[in-house]
Amino acid sequence: MCQSRKEPELNTFPVRWPREYRRLAEALGRGSPLLAMGEPDPAGEGPDPDALADPTGEQGLMPVPFLVRKHPDRVVVLAASRCFLYCRFCFRRGGEAHRGGPGPEDWGRIYDWLERHPEVGEVILSGGDPLTLPDRVLAGIGRRLGRIPHVRQWRVHTRAPVVVPRRVGARFVEALASGPPCRVVIHANHPAEVRPALEGAVERLRTAGVPVENQAVLLRRVNASAPVLADLVRRLEGIGVGLRYLHHPDRAPGTGRFWVSLREGLGVVREAEALAGRAIRYVVDLPTGHGKVPVSGLAPVAEERRGRRRRVCYRWARPQGWPGVAPGQAVEWWDVWEPREPGPS
Ligand code: SF4
Repeated sequence: MCQSRKEPELNTFPVRWPREYRRLAEALGRGSPLLAMGEPDPAGEGPDPDALADPTGEQGLMPVPFLVRKHPDRVVVLAASRCFLYCRFCFRRGGEAHRGGPGPEDWGRIYDWLERHPEVGEVILSGGDPLTLPDRVLAGIGRRLGRIPHVRQWRVHTRAPVVVPRRVGARFVEALASGPPCRVVIHANHPAEVRPALEGAVERLRTAGVPVENQAVLLRRVNASAPVLADLVRRLEGIGVGLRYLHHPDRAPGTGRFWVSLREGLGVVREAEALAGRAIRYVVDLPTGHGKVPVSGLAPVAEERRGRRRRVCYRWARPQGWPGVAPGQAVEWWDVWEPREPGPS
């Protein structure tokens, strides 16, 4: 199904290409945005003083290994460490998430913790890509969650339907039906990824009553242009998939070549909204662990320049009822990028 190789001279983040997706990426020619997402760049993945090993602040929010809690009512379980394609922009590439998933004892601790927390109503499987787990394992997770009365739903975050659509087979769909009601959140970033093979995978899920949404990341060289972003939104809608969030790129190690300034991102998003006739929820996942914050809620308070890098400090004041932040507390976050060179995004 996949071609794999190692790039030890860059770092330990693997390189892997599903065959059909690689063909699709190469068919887009020189400068292919799909190749940019999966192909290492020796010049762009070295040490970076502005990178953060844990750019969304989740490593300090694990009450038990592999379980992340940022919100009172839902948790993320890092169920798998492997992926079908190792996206070079991945926000978890600098941490432990790709270095091994939970074993039987870890799962025992996870289920035990969930049983002791009746306020948690939703469990989100992430990773790595949970679809690298066999269907029988996913079905077992669903059944076990189904025996915890207060877990009302589970969600699977996966890029598999996009990069290896045939992974969404009948047994996977059956596995989703083994637990509480399930939703699937896929991850397409470019309109070329929305092709008949993805449409078929989405159709198999929706026919089984599984809602499907998409999360995308705003990425230079991939989708940081209004026509491309609007086309992505329209094509996804055409196959029955809404855009749940558009993420500002996180400052994970080795990802600097994808960073877009927040100001530029806002401009692109506003123009794309006008072109697509849809609102886009553009968010930043703060390194403080407070979760996703709407970009429109950030206010610039300072600006500086270091070499080619530009930096703007933004302040976010907690709205009423936001979990994890004391009332009135403000959080500061630095946006870092390099000015775009002339030419395509
Ligand atoms: S599939 Fe998801 S977890 Fe895996 S490398 Fe890509 S973004 Fe990261």
